[in-house]
Amino acid sequence: MNADFATLCANEPELATLRASLRAFLFADRDEFGWQPTVDAWLSSWDEGFSARLGDAGFLGMTIPGEYGGQGRSHLHRYVVTEELLVAGAPVAAHWIADRQVAPGLLAYGSEEQRQRLLPRIAAGRCFSSIGMSEPQAGSDLAASSAKATKTAGGWLLSGTKVWTSGAHLAHQIVVLARTGPVDPQRRHAGFSQFIVPTHSPGTTISPIVMMSGEHHFNEVSFDEVFVDDATVLGEIGAGWHQVTAELSFERSGPERILSTAPVLTALVRLLAAQDDLDDHAAAAVGDLLARVISLRQLSVSVARALAAGQAPVNEAALVKDLGTRFEQESVELAADLFSYATQVPGREPVAALLDIARLHSPLFTLRGGTNEVLRGVVARGMGLR
Ligand SMILES: Cc1cc2nc3c(=O)[nH]c(=O)nc-3n(C[C@H](O)[C@H](O)[C@H](O)COP(=O)(O)OP(=O)(O)OC[C@H]3O[C@@H](n4cnc5c(N)ncnc54)[C@H](O)[C@@H]3O)c2cc1C
Repeated sequence: MNADFATLCANEPELATLRASLRAFLFADRDEFGWQPTVDAWLSSWDEGFSARLGDAGFLGMTIPGEYGGQGRSHLHRYVVTEELLVAGAPVAAHWIADRQVAPGLLAYGSEEQRQRLLPRIAAGRCFSSIGMSEPQAGSDLAASSAKATKTAGGWLLSGTKVWTSGAHLAHQIVVLARTGPVDPQRRHAGFSQFIVPTHSPGTTISPIVMMSGEHHFNEVSFDEVFVDDATVLGEIGAGWHQVTAELSFERSGPERILSTAPVLTALVRLLAAQDDLDDHAAAAVGDLLARVISLRQLSVSVARALAAGQAPVNEAALVKDLGTRFEQESVELAADLFSYATQVPGREPVAALLDIARLHSPLFTLRGGTNEVLRGVVARGMGLR
């Protein structure tokens, strides 16, 4: 393969070797434990045993230094791993947030005690975390958050309500954004701090929000004078906004903003490949679909390379999420259309089942991690247009 093309594809020899070893692991693990690939697995497919096996095999904590139990590799190594996990539709939800967001946050802002306590467990696939940012009256406008932490002897008293808290009912901890300073209308982003709150803390109530499909991923979490000690403060008091926005580049630009529907797309393409005399329109639509995935992937890889180089590509990450999640949504409609061409082949049922899940989850793609409309505002500001 041409070296430039290998770079664009994140397929240099070392990355290709990593990719091959993870594929072998996934094949053997699925064979032994029988998990079924699913779409949007990073939100919905929670399997603590799988996370532990993945950690034991050395595929978690890729960017965590060896002294904290991680693999000490780059963001690109992590990129390759997450991409392969998503395409395989592996049950990754349990460790996803901790590995993707909490680990970089701890490395950037955490105390030495927090790093030593939490990072080895994250790298081992045995520490599960949620993110407590959104509130009933503060989603896009996160600065309107009203959860607050008040100083008390030895710690803080946390009160308020968070909503859409994915996985909180199963996680060990929630990283909560709360006000620790007074509201200043001139400086709306000032006075926020982050706390790593154990989910079993007295005064914490986690109530399910069940989707119309019957699935339960989200929760409403209320904190009623929950005591958290000083060791739970992540980073600096008052620096919460800066910390949260820095984290978002990791959250927004990864392969999960392109590949949430990959398991149904790959299954469908295999089905169509087995079809005799595939209609020209369908063949062209498959080509179009793959061309879009490849271009989006190259954008996303370039953000991963910027992160690996220590940059903060906030605008680029927002653009990847906007384009990638719109593609994810459109891919569901395209897949449904293409499915109608696969008339003469066996094995349609599993693809139809994946398509059903993809349809149900599709509205979520452009909302989570900040809605696309709001991200376009971020990009406009970043380009000096606002
Ligand atoms: C699957 C999923 C998982 C999630 N997981 C978590 C989680 O784990 N933790 C967490 O804290 N949150 C989570 N969220 C919440 C998510 O971050 C919010 O839904 C999102 O930020 C939007 O907030 P909102 O729902 O309050 O919508 P609103 O902010 O009320 O927005 C409603 C609509 O108005 C539009 N809008 C709002 N402001 C503007 C503007 N300035 N310009 C243009 N349009 C605008 C929005 O684009 C949107 O279409 C999750 C959401 C989803 C869908």
